[in-house]
Amino acid sequence: MLDIRFIRENPDLVQRTAQQKRLELSVTDLLDWDQKRRDLLKQIEDLRADRNRLTHAIATNIQQGQPTSTEPLKEQVRQINQQLTLHESALTQANDECEHRMISVPNIVSPDTPVGRDDTDNVEIRRVGTPPVFAFETLDHVQLGERHDLIDIPRGVKAAGSRNYFLKGAGLYLHLAVQRLALDLLTKYGFTAMDVPVMVRPEALTKTGFFPTGADQTFEITGEDKWLVGTSEVSLVSYYSDEIVDVTEPIRLAGMSACFRKEIGSAGRDVRGLYRVHQFAKVEQVVLCANNAEISEQILQEITGHAEEILQLLELPYRVMSVCTGDMSQKTYKQYDIETWMPSRQAYGETHSSSNVLDFQARRSNIRYRDADGKLQFCHTLNNTAVASPRILIPLLENHQHEDGSIYIPKALRPYMGGMQRLIPT
Ligand code: AMP
Repeated sequence: MLDIRFIRENPDLVQRTAQQKRLELSVTDLLDWDQKRRDLLKQIEDLRADRNRLTHAIATNIQQGQPTSTEPLKEQVRQINQQLTLHESALTQANDECEHRMISVPNIVSPDTPVGRDDTDNVEIRRVGTPPVFAFETLDHVQLGERHDLIDIPRGVKAAGSRNYFLKGAGLYLHLAVQRLALDLLTKYGFTAMDVPVMVRPEALTKTGFFPTGADQTFEITGEDKWLVGTSEVSLVSYYSDEIVDVTEPIRLAGMSACFRKEIGSAGRDVRGLYRVHQFAKVEQVVLCANNAEISEQILQEITGHAEEILQLLELPYRVMSVCTGDMSQKTYKQYDIETWMPSRQAYGETHSSSNVLDFQARRSNIRYRDADGKLQFCHTLNNTAVASPRILIPLLENHQHEDGSIYIPKALRPYMGGMQRLIPT
């Protein structure tokens, strides 16, 4: 949420950002309602002041023994009360109209964010590692998964419908190993590991900026006023909602959770294998810090660096992309995506997403801290994938396959795989 004062002072910037983020919003309409609301508030205040004056005059008249002269005053009070009832109900409506529009207002974007329509306009910042060149016919992760008995997609579809899967044996251990590796690395960097609720109240989704814009991607639990999270960011940020926190040192959280996504609008896209599924696991970094753009920018670089370190430990080639306005969500101020090389696609595919949302979520979630002068301020919040699996298993299996059918296990994963150095086909 932006501060309404900021919107009043920068209507063109906010309207332009909504267009660049491809969001439907009329700032003029919002400001009209805002003006109506403010006019009504003023009128209500004036009417209440008039009524106080009249009631005082009535009391004085009675005290002075002139009760007959109070009748016209009483009539005026009756009329004011009628007007107040009308004005107060108009104010409730104006407040609702404003609130309804305010939750659709996008965050502004950083000056270095590229302006563009979709992910094809994202800008590459750096590449790390070199995609492997294979001198034999390679298999994709689905074929490797079958050959090594790691993944069963047909039975996943049988049990749960499209975009579902089973992970088996070493497939499950790899899935857990990448998450343990990420958690241990983040713990080393001062993050608190957290297991979080995945069924949350709708308010948690609204306050963290996932509703109303992302509601069509979210599974609702029938009969409960609860929804399944698409990321533990929702639960981690909500952990502090309506609280005053201490961010003298940034609060660093590492959430580990299942994530659920409807993938509405992805019909026909990425239908093969594990790339785009309805349920996956993710270790997510969330940081709360002071309301200082320099500090949060530094943390954005830091959490992006953690994701890169994990990919380097997994010995995978990747590139970092600066995400353009049209590919950003409503809440985001600045975003990097990391794409990892996927041999079966002969392309880099998104595996991580790192965002600074400034005070957008904290304002909606009412998370504040006291600054050095004792003044209450809204925090800045940031989030980034540490690892998301099974998507990361695609580059892991495909890049590390060998001609003899075996799959190399990176050294950093071996402690979590019982020391196993390679997977041998069954
Ligand atoms: P996001 O929270 O949308 O930025 O996604 C973070 C990461 O989660 C992505 O970079 C992917 O690695 C993973 N991810 C997102 N959606 C899916 C999905 N439907 N299936 C599998 N992995 C996903």
